[in-house]
Amino acid sequence: MRAIVATPPDRNSVQLMELHKPKPKENEALLRILKVGIDTADREINDGYYGTPPEGSPFIIIGHEAVGIVEEVGENVKNVKVGDIVVPIVRRPCIQNCLNCKNGEPDACVTGNYLEHGIIKLHGFASDYAVADAQYLVKVPEELKDEGVFLEPLSKVEKGISQLIKIQERLIWEPEDVLVTGAGPLGLLATLVLSLRGFNVLNVSRNRVESIKAKIVREAGGEYLDERENPLPSLDRKFDIIVEASGAATTALECCGLLKPNGILCFLGLYREIQECDDFGRIFANMVVGNKVAFGSVSSNRKHYEMGLKTLIDIKNKYPKVMGKLVSRELIPEKANLAFKSDFEEIKTIINFQK
Ligand SMILES: [Zn+2]
Repeated sequence: MRAIVATPPDRNSVQLMELHKPKPKENEALLRILKVGIDTADREINDGYYGTPPEGSPFIIIGHEAVGIVEEVGENVKNVKVGDIVVPIVRRPCIQNCLNCKNGEPDACVTGNYLEHGIIKLHGFASDYAVADAQYLVKVPEELKDEGVFLEPLSKVEKGISQLIKIQERLIWEPEDVLVTGAGPLGLLATLVLSLRGFNVLNVSRNRVESIKAKIVREAGGEYLDERENPLPSLDRKFDIIVEASGAATTALECCGLLKPNGILCFLGLYREIQECDDFGRIFANMVVGNKVAFGSVSSNRKHYEMGLKTLIDIKNKYPKVMGKLVSRELIPEKANLAFKSDFEEIKTIINFQK
């Protein structure tokens, strides 16, 4: 079978390899992979910054955003059957099985020794066939076969937003105005989810107002501004909810100054560590006197995937043209290396293993 593998920390190591089709163990399902989405983590693995092959393997099969069909199940598998369409949950409990991992929330693991398909010590799904522990598969209805590949990134957005709502139960609060920064897949999905919930959503990112990203925001009833023409500190309004999905530390800091009293800011981006800022005092004072909250949110667990399934159906019904626009291109596995070049303006690149 074809498999897209990497050998971090080597740079530009992603390549197509011919491997044997895996056999499912008693608790596993064999999946025939339909589609795999490529994201920043995959690119960082290709760049050599990130990624750990499974023990004893010189390489890791990449790909953690996947949808597939169950082809065969091990003898103990009860929750899925041959023919089911499924999306695998990426993160698995840590070896110590800490309190959070033990209770189904490995996204809140405290030891940091969790495993992640296609990223940390478990093979991913960018291959014609893959095996996964069946208890970590989420069944997807037939009607979401094409969109299922977005369930993993959407689950991260669902987690951030559901935690935000939960945190805000700390006070009396009637949110209306939302700012989303960044228009990659997470930023656009956050814009869609919050628009669906009836908020006034402004998306600000570094893309032209005629870009497809800006069009998607407007199609969802949101407003769009190009950050290069409208720097965040110059905005003449403030927000109840801010979702920062640009991954730019400067943008993230500027967001702190745009919260209304009692507002909340969720960081969904991955930030580079060294960034300068010369006015932390003003930012922190402002957070304190306004009872504001900023929090980070990473990964997701089963309940966020389940929330995402409902949202995908709502997005399809309310904004029927939008999901197709999120897919910038579909590549055959033999051309997967194109997904790792930065010369293409995209939202999401999909590798199609049916071709
Ligand atoms: Zn843990």
